[in-house]
Amino acid sequence: ASWFGHVEPAAKDPILGVTEAFLADTSPDKMNVGVGAYRDDGGKPVVLDCVRQAEQRIAGSMNMEYLPMGGSVKMIDESLKLAYGEGSEFIKDKRIAAVQSLSGTGACRLFADFQKRFMPDSQIHIPTPTWANHHNIWRDAHVPIKTFTYYHPESRGLDFSGLMDDIKNAPDGSFFLLHACAHNPTGVDPSEEQWREISHQFKVKKHFPFFDMAYQGFASGDPERDAKAIRIFLEDGHQIGCAQSFAKNMGLYGQRIGCLSILCDDETQAIAVKSQLQQLARPMYSNPPLHGALIVSTILSDPELKSLWLKEVKGMADRIIGMRTALKENLERLGSPLSWEHITNQIGMFCYSGMTPEQVDQLTNEFHIYMTRNGRISMASVTTGNVAYLANAIHEVTK
Ligand code: PMP
Repeated sequence: ASWFGHVEPAAKDPILGVTEAFLADTSPDKMNVGVGAYRDDGGKPVVLDCVRQAEQRIAGSMNMEYLPMGGSVKMIDESLKLAYGEGSEFIKDKRIAAVQSLSGTGACRLFADFQKRFMPDSQIHIPTPTWANHHNIWRDAHVPIKTFTYYHPESRGLDFSGLMDDIKNAPDGSFFLLHACAHNPTGVDPSEEQWREISHQFKVKKHFPFFDMAYQGFASGDPERDAKAIRIFLEDGHQIGCAQSFAKNMGLYGQRIGCLSILCDDETQAIAVKSQLQQLARPMYSNPPLHGALIVSTILSDPELKSLWLKEVKGMADRIIGMRTALKENLERLGSPLSWEHITNQIGMFCYSGMTPEQVDQLTNEFHIYMTRNGRISMASVTTGNVAYLANAIHEVTK
């Protein structure tokens, strides 16, 4: 008898399938706008200068000992300043339980495990649609998943009244996952005014907001501005959870560096919660990796490197915003009678184009353009060299 004969191949991840098909295509025109990783205007992966300089400073000077179970204290301190604000009273009062995480995914998963262990009867409410991995993360943590209204397909914007209704109709004291900025996959964020209303309703309903912040700085170009939703909730006196990732905003994708934080009642509670987060991490991976933590803490704790980072993250955001405008203008120039306002109204890495799965198939088959069938275009892969080709192809399949 075979030990593993009963193991069937796992369902393919939709994004990885897109990449495989792209790699197999031999057309010189081929474009991959599926995967969410930043590219420069030549279509090449980018390592930020601030990261290269930090690496030079680190090289040869550090030992390779284990980090503490909760990760790099310096990295955590700097991350919290980014999310909660430089002068945050919560940092000063030591009310935040925080650990270094395996990027944003690891932060979400650790929180989900924490939720299961200490609030075993709770559920998580996640938006429709959301980053597909949110479903996997809370499923594998055995936390029941409920969805709430978010996107409005007709307007290609926010379904604010549907969202507010679902917040009101959820049982008091529910856990909600909110994208802090640059919602993936839709690129649709609430306005500041809408965030204030959401925060108010969360207070009324005593809900717990868990912010997944995978794109701080990447949306507007300014990390402070992209933290606005979190700051509004903090002002309103919520306790929050927060998953931070340095994958996108520092281009540290493969380093797996991030931070999970939970704002507690007081320092005593924060110490207890942190110790439990470490307890959850211990049997999974014992302690987090060193190199990415050193890069992040070196950059954020040095005024010169930090201002270089701020400049570079703004450069990435601005290039994407520029490509949104270019794509929209190209479509209009081609005489497309459809409205493409949503391309520039949406923000962050993705454009939720509104194309149907059939139109996406046609883009792939006739124009060698690869993306997920939900019509999500990674704007980070659009360049001055290929935007006209993309616009023409979109026009052809939508006219
Ligand atoms: N949350 C959201 C909404 C994301 O889009 C991503 C990246 N695709 C992540 C979390 C996590 O990414 P990482 O684990 O690479 O930080």
